Amino acid sequence: EYACPEDLITIDDTKPRKRGECPEDCHACFRVCPRTFIHEDLRNDNSKPIGDFIKVLSVKSIKHTQGQDGSIVTTLLDYLLSNKIVTDALIVDKKDDLAWKPYAKITNAIDEVVKSGGTKYSVCPVFKPLKDLKEGVN
Ligand code: SF4
Repeated sequence: EYACPEDLITIDDTKPRKRGECPEDCHACFRVCPRTFIHEDLRNDNSKPIGDFIKVLSVKSIKHTQGQDGSIVTTLLDYLLSNKIVTDALIVDKKDDLAWKPYAKITNAIDEVVKSGGTKYSVCPVFKPLKDLKEGVN
């Protein structure tokens, strides 16, 4: 939905719906969908399984504890928001009654960042809030 340059796709609950004809050779939706084949050019370089890095650390937050792997992402976002280094964060949270249906949102509330801590093992349209923001949708 957020990747389509022609605005032909909408996500109805979890199901994509397409209307209209696509320009030839677009395929943007195919390329970004996590459930389709990833073209070789877009795959990670397997000779560097974790990509480029300067230093690898194993760390654990002493401020937050509910994350999956030491709550480091939560702690970094807390720091960035608290010190006004960033104005907002794009997070993925889940509703209490729909634990397997994560959703993305933009927030500047640290309590929401903390609540959203922890890995979600489910596909989620992460960048949809950015499209909504661009289009003035709340
Ligand atoms: S192929 Fe391109 S234009 Fe067609 S639905 Fe996908 S992203 Fe939109």
